[in-house]
Amino acid sequence: MTTDNNRKDFPLLQQMDTIYLDNAATAQRPSCVLAAVQEFYEQKNANPLRGFYPLSLEATESYQEARKTVQEFIHAKEPEEIIFTRNTTESLNLVAYSYGLNFLKEGDEIAVTIMEHHSNLLPWQMVSRMTGAKLHYLECTSEGELTDEELQKGINERTRLVAVAQVSNVLGCVNPIRKITEMAHRVGAVVVVDGAQSVPHMPVDVQALDADFLAFSGHKLMGPMGIGCLYGKRELLEKMPPFLTGGEMIDSVHRDGAVFAPVPQKFEAGTVNAAGAVGLAAAIRYLQEKGFDYIQKKELELTQRAMEGLGALPYVHILGSKDPANHTGIVSFTIDGVHPHDVSEILSSDGIDVRAGHHCAQPLLEYLGVRSSTRASMMFYNTPEEIDALIESVSTIRRRMGYGE
Ligand code: PLP
Repeated sequence: MTTDNNRKDFPLLQQMDTIYLDNAATAQRPSCVLAAVQEFYEQKNANPLRGFYPLSLEATESYQEARKTVQEFIHAKEPEEIIFTRNTTESLNLVAYSYGLNFLKEGDEIAVTIMEHHSNLLPWQMVSRMTGAKLHYLECTSEGELTDEELQKGINERTRLVAVAQVSNVLGCVNPIRKITEMAHRVGAVVVVDGAQSVPHMPVDVQALDADFLAFSGHKLMGPMGIGCLYGKRELLEKMPPFLTGGEMIDSVHRDGAVFAPVPQKFEAGTVNAAGAVGLAAAIRYLQEKGFDYIQKKELELTQRAMEGLGALPYVHILGSKDPANHTGIVSFTIDGVHPHDVSEILSSDGIDVRAGHHCAQPLLEYLGVRSSTRASMMFYNTPEEIDALIESVSTIRRRMGYGE
């Protein structure tokens, strides 16, 4: 087991006296991210993209450098294909309002997997309501697999858009994005990938995946809250109308209309979150220094340990794949006879922070016949001792709830 001390980089992890296993909700931030944000405000703070004086130009340069860092990180062709948003939710809404409402119509189909986070479902329910396009659910096996048969049935000549998470936030399974983009492109559909749970944990190459859009949040990859990204292929972004209108996103405005700025500015209305973008770039550099080989190895070891320990308890049921490598550090489970809210309260009383509930994926849980679950989600900075503490605490829960074991 790798026992490196990554925690020295995280001020909060060093201070807190609880075990943080809610990383899929939001990760902790290393000091280099906090320092980058502070440095921006202390040394470069001016409204970017507006002024011609040195401070504003410096702010603009930092902001655009951050865009380049994101571009290289996800292997987009050009920096202009990266739009800064607030988070995954806003990125997906941008695609739904700008692409969905304008390019879909009655008779079309939107294929969406049953395992989507509400952020990659509600926007498509809205597009379906507003345009008359039909929503089709791609169902998975209890292990989270989207079979070829299911994909072939659901991605057909009527399909115009496929919405799919690269990694499920409940099951942790990795979906076959490349296969899906091939199938979708054959019938002329675009693919919107929710990368919220994949981008922080595995190398993502939007060109190799041939994804049309990819959304993710800064805060889940150790960046600041309030900054997110949308990748979109340039040819698609260029034909899409703006999502929000106002300052910053125009070339010129006249009494009877406006000429919009080119991408990506067309989609970044109002004062941008430059400090957030700079912090996100610092988080990406930190991740790159660790390297995904190391991160994935460490997270797999932790997941294996958790699945083995929890799986050995006969009343614990782990959702999704039996293979720890198909969990991306996410272990959701139920305990016979104990509500997940009670589970998380008991864990909390033992100093362990986990998530309990429907994880914003209610259709998936309904489909699996589970009302809610408890989720432990790991990051490379967690330790084997923390996983052992989780297993130990879980093993006492039924007894503490009044059961015999
Ligand atoms: N998609 C997935 C798969 C997620 O796990 C989450 C957050 O939990 C989101 C979307 C929404 O992310 P945000 O709240 O940062 O917009």
